[in-house]
Amino acid sequence: MATEIKPIKRLQQDVVNRIAAGEVIQRPMNALKELIENSLDAKSTNIQITVKNGGLKFFQIQDNGTGIRKEDFEIVCERFTTSKLTEFEDLQKIATFGFRGEALASISHVAHLSIISKTKHDICAYQAEFNDGKLKMPPRPMAGNQGTIITVEDLFYNMTVRRQALRSPAEEYQKISEIVSKYAIHNASIGFALKKYGENNDIRTSQNSNCTENIRLIYGNCIARELVEFDFENRDLDFKVKGYMTNVNYSHKKYQFILFINNRLVDCQGLKKCIDAIYQTYLPKNNHPFVYLSLELNPRNIDVNVHPTKHEVHFLNESEIVESITTAIEQKLLGSNNARIFYTQS
Ligand code: ADP
Ligand code: MG
Repeated sequence: MATEIKPIKRLQQDVVNRIAAGEVIQRPMNALKELIENSLDAKSTNIQITVKNGGLKFFQIQDNGTGIRKEDFEIVCERFTTSKLTEFEDLQKIATFGFRGEALASISHVAHLSIISKTKHDICAYQAEFNDGKLKMPPRPMAGNQGTIITVEDLFYNMTVRRQALRSPAEEYQKISEIVSKYAIHNASIGFALKKYGENNDIRTSQNSNCTENIRLIYGNCIARELVEFDFENRDLDFKVKGYMTNVNYSHKKYQFILFINNRLVDCQGLKKCIDAIYQTYLPKNNHPFVYLSLELNPRNIDVNVHPTKHEVHFLNESEIVESITTAIEQKLLGSNNARIFYTQS
């Protein structure tokens, strides 16, 4: 019996776009991270976030950055439209978070998106709604301050399975709150606020605060009073690292590990595990530290374009760099605290 060989057909563009969008925006937190990064790229000094139902129903981010020009509204939500990258080679020295022009497009394919924005050159703000990458109608003038307000409603309204998989608004809110906390620690000169719709702020940091003050505000005094400052450079491997971590007087069941590489919030399981392993010698069993590190690598040694949500990056000499950092941290911990309490593990 002859088996039927199906013809190969080109996917419709909107199908392609929705598949791509599903990779970039996996849950509310990914969408919010992209929007925070856009606000940072736009040089905002104040970023306020409001969330309803864990971001599944509604979330809004308001910044006081450069704003979006009215002329750009037409294409701002199309895929691969960006004000940040022009040549592929520029990726090596890209100083902005964004470079692919995919975030707004992706969100507009899986949610209802609205933008209000005003640049310093405009006398009024403009508002517009977007669907599947396109403007629904011409931007309307309205009153507003300089900066941008982006509102995202009914995330995954057209992706039933995804929507059903994300059933717990509380869990989604928790993830959003973690993201905002981490950005607030790393960008202490920028004011961040996060709240649930109609409620008081859960997170509020002020402009020109500092890193330890924000750690205290967000993670509490128990962590803040046990912090050790860490500042280390390795010229051979061409990196610098700064940050704060708790000394051995502090320990907790939950491991808090915050890592920024070249100002990007990323995961690096290798480094995370190795640092935890050092603490295991000093902390009670199954307890962990709080660690915040900002690692600066030569941009030439890092590839930021390896993951759709950009949460992973690849870099050269990874294992040597991890080893160098962990050795330095261990030395720092040993030297840091005269009043150190040693727990003996039995
Ligand atoms: P990318 O950040 O990769 O350029 P996005 O889809 O995230 O792509 O954004 C597209 C463009 O929209 C950006 O290049 C920027 O010019 C503009 N933009 C988005 N968000 C903001 C914002 N909050 N303030 C100013 N401009 C913005
Ligand atoms: Mg972006």
